[in-house]
Amino acid sequence: MIAFHSTQGGGPVALESVLQSGTAPDGKLYVPERLPRFRREALAESATPADLAELMLRPFFEGSSLAADLPGICRNAFASPLPLTEIAPGPNGARLRLLELFHGPTAAFKDYGARFLAACLERILAEEPASSPPLTILVATSGDTGAAVASAFSGRDKIRVAVLFPKGRISPRQEHHLGCWDDNVQALAVRGAFDDCQRLVKQAFSSTSLRRKARLGSANSINLGRLLPQSAYHAWAALKSPEGAHFVIPTGNLGNGMACLWARGMGAGIDRILLATNANRAVGDYLSSGEYRRRESIGTLANAMDVGDPSNMERLRHHFGGEIDRIRKAVAATSVNDERIQARIRREYAASGVVLCPHTAAGVDACHEHLSLPDVPSGDWIVAATAHPAKFESVVEPLVGTTVAPPPQLAELLSRPSSHAEIRPDLAALAPYLLQSRA
Ligand SMILES: *Cc1c(COP(=O)(O)O)cnc(C)c1O
Repeated sequence: MIAFHSTQGGGPVALESVLQSGTAPDGKLYVPERLPRFRREALAESATPADLAELMLRPFFEGSSLAADLPGICRNAFASPLPLTEIAPGPNGARLRLLELFHGPTAAFKDYGARFLAACLERILAEEPASSPPLTILVATSGDTGAAVASAFSGRDKIRVAVLFPKGRISPRQEHHLGCWDDNVQALAVRGAFDDCQRLVKQAFSSTSLRRKARLGSANSINLGRLLPQSAYHAWAALKSPEGAHFVIPTGNLGNGMACLWARGMGAGIDRILLATNANRAVGDYLSSGEYRRRESIGTLANAMDVGDPSNMERLRHHFGGEIDRIRKAVAATSVNDERIQARIRREYAASGVVLCPHTAAGVDACHEHLSLPDVPSGDWIVAATAHPAKFESVVEPLVGTTVAPPPQLAELLSRPSSHAEIRPDLAALAPYLLQSRA
């Protein structure tokens, strides 16, 4: 059995509270006290990604009320395929493949973690007396996260979702994807910017009067229930290479990067890990200078990675006891600006016919640069393809000169009706949506 504690230490905390609260009472993030260690051959016996997730996550669930449900939770979260697609080789002849993480319901990798967390919370709530109040998940989004969370929680018992997005500042398709779910999901267009949405969420969580009346929960990317399962798909891909593989992770809040590090720690056969950021360089600057400085975020074409102060930096530093030299040995980081993202989307399409989303393009471009450094091995390199290019059609289509058809699951969402309400950017306007009792 593996317990959890805050990065600041303190006593062990049970899995159920870790999943429900997101952050520790001291305001820090939860981390597992240790990682289970597996033999690679034992992991490789798993027949499906769901089986592998179950095997890898079992030690974290042992002794919890969710242990018996773990197989079903994993099947629910890992229902979509995880293909590896060959793309053009790297400069030193290295084999490059994409791990396509975009075959879930909203065509981005966040579907895996969001569905896993949703399935866990639904089961925790099912154990409570029928009279206990429903949980309202409150989330602010500038795009991808909101859709993954809305989809994952749609139709789940005793859970409601309020998704806040900045009115008129996300694409029409993204807006559609937030409002096309079951009655338990309410999309709210906030008259303001993304920062106003985030501020509202913070205000709601810190309002004692509101929290007396409504039971609020969060599903943001710092929740361990979203991060832990992501280790399984990295391991699944690594196990497909007999000698193991190197990984490139398009990085924003560093959640997927942490999950890849954990998969390596659990024995999946992951060798090097390269974190690819866009023009937001906090991670790379930290590795080169040894001083961490949070930044204002910069808007880029890979907008799901527009993060100036990655929330999981705290976990990265904790994982290596805060020692910069150990972190430098464990990961590398490269920053890729918009010009390079655009050039890579064009070049990859010309070379292999594969259309990359802007985030994945940052990863592929970082990989090419990294492979031209003197001491970098060739071998198998796997780039996490974090979203389907059709989600970013306005960026991608002009560069490749052709239309990119949405995959079937997105096309189906676009054919559903979608609706949202509009609110002023203040807590009084939001509160009624958090208090409504579910019919
Ligand atoms: C969220 C997201 C990222 C960044 O992932 P982190 O876990 O925050 O580092 C990259 N690409 C896409 C498409 C995303 O939605």
